[in-house]
Amino acid sequence: MQSDQLKRTITQFLRSAQSAGVSSTSPSGSIEIASAEPESHSNNHESGSDTSQAATAESTGEKDEHGMGKETLAIVEQEVSQCTLCDELVANRTQTVFGVGNPNADLVFFGEAPGRDEDKQGIPFVGRAGQLLTKIIEAMGLQRDDVYILNTVKCRPPDNRNPLPEEQENCKGFLNRQLALISPKYICCLGSVPSKNLLETKETIGKLRGVLHEVNGWKVLCTYHPAYLLRNPSAKQFVWEDMQILMKDMGLPVPKT
Ligand code: SF4
Repeated sequence: MQSDQLKRTITQFLRSAQSAGVSSTSPSGSIEIASAEPESHSNNHESGSDTSQAATAESTGEKDEHGMGKETLAIVEQEVSQCTLCDELVANRTQTVFGVGNPNADLVFFGEAPGRDEDKQGIPFVGRAGQLLTKIIEAMGLQRDDVYILNTVKCRPPDNRNPLPEEQENCKGFLNRQLALISPKYICCLGSVPSKNLLETKETIGKLRGVLHEVNGWKVLCTYHPAYLLRNPSAKQFVWEDMQILMKDMGLPVPKT
């Protein structure tokens, strides 16, 4: 692991420990749990949509096997909402866009970054491309609520540019924690940015699509981004071929064409 990435991972871990009530570490490496009430996180929170959800998660008092506060998506979401690691994105965002869907989904759709509509609503894939993704999901015989949808970065890049490699790296810890909690069987990468992010490759989407890849125990399928399909409708046939590969492997009925 490179030193910058290691620093970010440690920073995220310490923040996580802090929200779990760890107040300090001793030279021997043991940890101390704060006895005071958890600090309120409501300041700095711009979206205002998830504070009560996170508070509910914290108030459940669930602990893991080490006696630490149990990690939940609500806790990660709250940390994301306060994250200031990417200066340019923080300066331009209306709110963070964490992810949406079934927290126990077998299938995760992994996109690039929030756009204008997503930044406004705080929900991924709600613009024109998002509506097309919904149609693709429904064509598979599923609903949006059956799957989980997230992006490589949680904040909108200005002018809808691609998220920079360092921004994706900054956000990777959040992504990894989301995926660890959701624990999907399948991940469908939408477009080149998430495909390269997850597969750690420089290959083009044209080379990556059409087969299932194996990454960290997930079956990963790469296909074109719905925004690309809006500009190039003829590519829809390739996406449908890719979805059929997923459907067959997932045991979903594939309609005869
Ligand atoms: Fe933080 Fe991710 Fe937003 Fe960057 S994109 S500021 S790492 S939440």
